[in-house]
Amino acid sequence: MSLKTYQKKRKFVGKGKTIEPKGEIKKSISKQLRFVIHEHHASHLHWDLRLEMNGVLKSWAVPKVPPATKGIKRLAMHVEDHPLSYINFHGVIPEGNYGAGKVLIWDKGKYNLVEQNSNKIIFELHGKKLKGKYALIKTSYGAKSGKSWLFFKL
Ligand code: MN
Repeated sequence: MSLKTYQKKRKFVGKGKTIEPKGEIKKSISKQLRFVIHEHHASHLHWDLRLEMNGVLKSWAVPKVPPATKGIKRLAMHVEDHPLSYINFHGVIPEGNYGAGKVLIWDKGKYNLVEQNSNKIIFELHGKKLKGKYALIKTSYGAKSGKSWLFFKL
C-alpha cells in the first residue's frame, strides 16, 4: 500500500493547489469496509470506483456509468491508491491540477469482500444506487494491459 503516486500527482501547497486531502495510510483495518463511487467531470467524464482495502482506497476509473443491473460489463482502469479520507471528498479540483474539474459522490456505502485474488475481486455493495454482488476481473483488453479490469454485476 502506498500513497506515493497519489501524492506525487497532486499539488497540496501553494497557489492554485488542489482541495483534495493529502491523506495518510490508516494503520488499523476496519471491520466494516466502505466504498465510494465518484462522478468526475474531468477532461473526460468518468466514474471512480473506490474500495476500502488495507487502509487505502483501491481505485478504478470507469469511463461509462457503473451498471445497476446484470448484463452490462464496464471497462475499469486500475489507478493509484487514494487515501481513505477521500471517501468523503467532493468539490471542484481547481484548474491546472491533476484531474481538474467537478467531483461528485455518485454512490457510497458499505461493502463486503466475498472473494479476492490477484486477478479477481468479488464483493457485495450496499449502496443507494448499486446493491448486490459485483465482480472486478483483470482483463488483457486495451492498450494498458495490466491495468484493465472488467466491472460488472453478478
Ligand atoms: Mn477520476
